[in-house]
Amino acid sequence: MMTRQQIVVGACAAIAAATVLGAALTRERVPEVDLAEAVYAELPGHVEEQTLSFGQTFGQILEDAGLGTAERVSVLDAFRAEAEPRRLRTGTRVRLHWVDERLHGIQVTLDRDRTVHVDCRAGDCAASTITLATTIDTVYAAGAIGSSLWDAVMSLPELAAAPAGDRRNFVLSLDKVFQWQVDFSRQILPGDTYRFVFEREKRPDGSMRTGHLLSAELVNNGKAYHAIWFDPNGDGDGTWYDLDGQSVRRAFLMKPIELSRISSRFGMRHHPILKQWRNHNGVDYAANRGTPVQSTGAGVVVRRNRSGTYGNVIDVRHPNGFLTRYAHLNGFARGISVGSRVSQGEVIGYVGMTGMATGPHLHYEMHAGGRPVDPLAIEFPPEDPVPADNRARWERESAERIALLFSLPGPEEIRSVRADQ
Ligand SMILES: [Zn+2]
Repeated sequence: MMTRQQIVVGACAAIAAATVLGAALTRERVPEVDLAEAVYAELPGHVEEQTLSFGQTFGQILEDAGLGTAERVSVLDAFRAEAEPRRLRTGTRVRLHWVDERLHGIQVTLDRDRTVHVDCRAGDCAASTITLATTIDTVYAAGAIGSSLWDAVMSLPELAAAPAGDRRNFVLSLDKVFQWQVDFSRQILPGDTYRFVFEREKRPDGSMRTGHLLSAELVNNGKAYHAIWFDPNGDGDGTWYDLDGQSVRRAFLMKPIELSRISSRFGMRHHPILKQWRNHNGVDYAANRGTPVQSTGAGVVVRRNRSGTYGNVIDVRHPNGFLTRYAHLNGFARGISVGSRVSQGEVIGYVGMTGMATGPHLHYEMHAGGRPVDPLAIEFPPEDPVPADNRARWERESAERIALLFSLPGPEEIRSVRADQ
């Protein structure tokens, strides 16, 4: 029985990035409600709250509220400078502020972070958008894995102050950046270590708006894997590279189902139904009926039918002569047909037991150059490295992120702490 041991270096607040926000916000309340009260608190009159129902337009709400044509046009013209009225989602909150039966202003909550304020006090309306102030902080953590990465991170006492949703996000992020190298459900060993630096943008109520791993390390069975965030185009759409600037991404995911267990491997086996030795041309994953099945690589669907022992089956053709096959499916995902282009990780079907199967599972095959190969034995080459024209910026930014990561306790220190206890 392994014990779990973690060390954390602490959560450290950094720079604040924010747009204007005057009013102080209290924790218990929904921020945008507070904004509304803060703006109109001392004003006389009353506030009428409406919610956009399915098929209803913003203009209809204004009409139902009793606004004349000229007034409606004025509100909509002003609003359009900030957002498209026809794009408002069902459920959008609209608050109308009235004083002596005259419209003073309207607030429309676009999303959790943005509210459009339309001010009509001066006759013609004018609009502005108020964005909720956010702060950026960085979370550092390091530890050893007992039974699973999930348990290790979720139960880390030093992260107890972080909302459960944030902790879940840390685990899922680690799983995501290392998914091409390590199968967390199969390869993680007790005593494997991790450390990571996570940057998050928080709302005033403490919830995370966005966040990503800046740098991370996983030492699995003595082998260290690294992922360093870099955004080549500077548009927020970055990805992760290893210490040398090689992409962590591969042409194929390690497995077609997220949470599953391998029930039969590639090679010779005694067939459970045929009761004889046969070559098993794929890998079986046991999972509940209905579990989503993802295409492990980008490609084109070249087969989607029901056929004999395979049952419902999908074949996806990939570049460089690769083909993947997904069999015994309960059903196909919507919109998947022969000729469909699918991306890596896209759900194409659901686990079932059609065809020759003793229980719900996915039979997964990979073919290279027309021959079945063992998908668990192949090492796929990485995708494109850091672009050459970004190399200088990569060197600078990655050095900083790597230094942050390596300032955390590494495998040796974590192990020596474990030994002391
Ligand atoms: Zn099989």
